[in-house]
Amino acid sequence: MNPAPRKVVIIGAGMAGMCAAIYARKCGYPVTVLEQHERPGGLATSWQRGAYTFEACLHWLLGSNQHDPMHALWREVFDIDRLHFVYPEEWIRVESEDSERLSIYSDLERLEAELLRHAPQDEVQIRQFLHAVRSLCHCPLPALGGTWQHRFATGLPLLRHAPLLKRLSHITSEAYGKRFSDPLLRGFFGDGENAQLAVLALVFALAWNANGNAGYPVGGSQAVTGSIAQNLQEIGGVLRTGASVRQILVADDTAVGVLLDDGEHIDADWVISAADGHTTIFGLLDGRYVGPRMAHLYRTYEPFPSFLQVSLGVARDLSQQCGFVMRLLDLPLIVDPQTTVRQIAFRLFHYDPTLAPVGKTAVTCTLPTRNVEYWSWLSEHDPQAYEAEKRRVADSVIALFDAWIPGVRDAIEVVDVSTPATVIRCTRNWRGSMEGWLITPQTGVRPLPPTLPGLRRFLMIGQWVMPGGGLPSGLITARRAVRRMCRQDGIAFAPDEHEKTTNAAGGLPP
Ligand SMILES: Cc1cc2nc3c(=O)[nH]c(=O)nc-3n(C[C@H](O)[C@H](O)[C@H](O)COP(=O)(O)OP(=O)(O)OC[C@H]3O[C@@H](n4cnc5c(N)ncnc54)[C@H](O)[C@@H]3O)c2cc1C
Repeated sequence: MNPAPRKVVIIGAGMAGMCAAIYARKCGYPVTVLEQHERPGGLATSWQRGAYTFEACLHWLLGSNQHDPMHALWREVFDIDRLHFVYPEEWIRVESEDSERLSIYSDLERLEAELLRHAPQDEVQIRQFLHAVRSLCHCPLPALGGTWQHRFATGLPLLRHAPLLKRLSHITSEAYGKRFSDPLLRGFFGDGENAQLAVLALVFALAWNANGNAGYPVGGSQAVTGSIAQNLQEIGGVLRTGASVRQILVADDTAVGVLLDDGEHIDADWVISAADGHTTIFGLLDGRYVGPRMAHLYRTYEPFPSFLQVSLGVARDLSQQCGFVMRLLDLPLIVDPQTTVRQIAFRLFHYDPTLAPVGKTAVTCTLPTRNVEYWSWLSEHDPQAYEAEKRRVADSVIALFDAWIPGVRDAIEVVDVSTPATVIRCTRNWRGSMEGWLITPQTGVRPLPPTLPGLRRFLMIGQWVMPGGGLPSGLITARRAVRRMCRQDGIAFAPDEHEKTTNAAGGLPP
């Protein structure tokens, strides 16, 4: 028989925090999730302006294919089969300002033909690249659950791909793009901040897309995180918003609870931090349990940049355009005094009817920046200049949008700009990062330890534990952490048991 479960407090109701709460609850733990913002979701969010909803996160959800192991894991935390996924034939279109264009198709035969037609001089590189994508289409993900024997058995086929995986994780997307002579093809691999991650990420994205395993869920982030939050509450988890944790309480090198900003103490037998890693280690724990390895990682690893998002409500049907268009610019766009970009991407959400009224389109444009101090300082100390800067960036983006689709400017009825200051206010991510650690040759894809040296009954999860971040990192790190907690407490980790008990008894298990 399982021993009496212990009380778990989770800091942060992003994807990781909510998944951990569901797993812990299913294993019988009383769970409270504390979220500083007014609503759950963290980075996986969208917001309403007038008749439009502006999506900030979701391009794709890995695991949309019912036969993929990741799909089975999503089923453990919410009813993913209720989502409707969209799979665009033309995934991305790369365009120059003089209307030259290159289509990146989801179907790999069609993609190869298009690349060869467009850039025959790059044939050798094109065929090598497509070969890599095709190889990884059949590369299994490391087993995400099950016994160690099962994980070992499914891990073996991965060995076959090890040299390719290593090669692709040792070169950035930008550097890989330089192997091609064609400017549009180079542009596809990115330029500047957005292209500093290992090209492996792009190759996997194409492979998952080709396999129909990275669909866009209609309803975007809200359709996913809203369902997970609802599920959590239905199975008896407590989700408190507007509850900002100031300190993790420690006694005898054991986490024993948290202190909120308003002075409230909450006791716990386990504390799991699903909040930003830097704040957790150096703020909430005051740097007392960092240890040399974590100190080194936090000094040398590179986070993803922060971003501005210009969102436009357009009273026009734009469904004749590709839903994701990268425009290579003749002149750089000035994002802030330290940041310029030479390409911008527009997302035209005509494939999601929940985001705009019929005949209208929600459009977004994400601009990376590392100049977080600039935006935070303006937002805090000079609101007028802050608004003026937002307006300037919006005007530049609108001018480029109108140059691309002449006359579209007149149909814009809503303009919204979020900045790194918004990201920090809503998610507290270190340096306003959009996705935690970049995958680089230094990081590889190996997760960071979920524990801190010398601190008991404490675990860390989420995008700061798994380089590359993304929604799956929340689920995977949460699942592993709860399994570890169960093992230590002598409790069976059985994420499906709760459902069976609940269904059979028509209520929560005792
Ligand atoms: C533009 C953009 C596009 C993206 N596209 C995709 C995509 O297509 N597919 C994909 O899978 N991923 C995508 N991602 C990445 C994905 O959104 C993130 O990696 C993921 O949501 C991170 O989840 P998390 O739970 O680890 O962290 P977060 O979402 O950052 O959650 C942390 C939570 O902790 C809370 N918190 C922090 N400090 C405290 C405190 N002291 N007290 C209480 N609460 C606290 C925060 O408010 C936040 O809610 C994208 C991200 C961005 C920004």
